[in-house]
Amino acid sequence: MQIIFAGKAHPADEEGKRIIQRLMEWTRHPDLRDRIAFIEDYDMYTAKLLVQGVDLWLNTPRRPLEASGTSGQKAALNGAINFGVCDGWWREAYQADLNGWSIGKDADTSDQDVQNMIDAESIYAQLEREIVRLYYNCDRSGIPRGWVKRMKASIRTVAPRFNTDRMVTEYVTRLYTS
Ligand SMILES: *Cc1c(COP(=O)(O)O)cnc(C)c1O
Repeated sequence: MQIIFAGKAHPADEEGKRIIQRLMEWTRHPDLRDRIAFIEDYDMYTAKLLVQGVDLWLNTPRRPLEASGTSGQKAALNGAINFGVCDGWWREAYQADLNGWSIGKDADTSDQDVQNMIDAESIYAQLEREIVRLYYNCDRSGIPRGWVKRMKASIRTVAPRFNTDRMVTEYVTRLYTS
């Protein structure tokens, strides 16, 4: 498994910047060099390559701060499967055992450090027990049938409901003309 991180810390977000610094140190660790990568200067160009190229889209906002989660929608349209905290759009889109995986559901506690530990455990447990197995469970012609089924469910359930048609319609009817 290879984890690719991308993103930017807000200039005033000291904790965010420290997290990215620690991540950079991990990417240089001899045991992890091939396993984790950080892409700097996340922009439309790198986002396009990422949503087209990855198999699983990991999104870990702090509940309830996810404004929408547009990037996960773009990933789904490109056949990636979402694995995210049930917040923002994923709260509405996620269907258990069908179109992806959720990291927990509602917040278990208001203590963010404790919640982080619970979510981390949920990420590792699902990756190990289910997600990685499904990905590598190939038939004789080398096709991971279960994975492909979930990719198709991801596209089928996301594309008709999460798109710019809906966004523009809702801006107009719910904000501008109401
Ligand atoms: C899609 C996109 C975003 C929005 O991502 P979210 O996960 O919804 O925050 C931000 N920056 C770029 C370059 C994008 O392509």
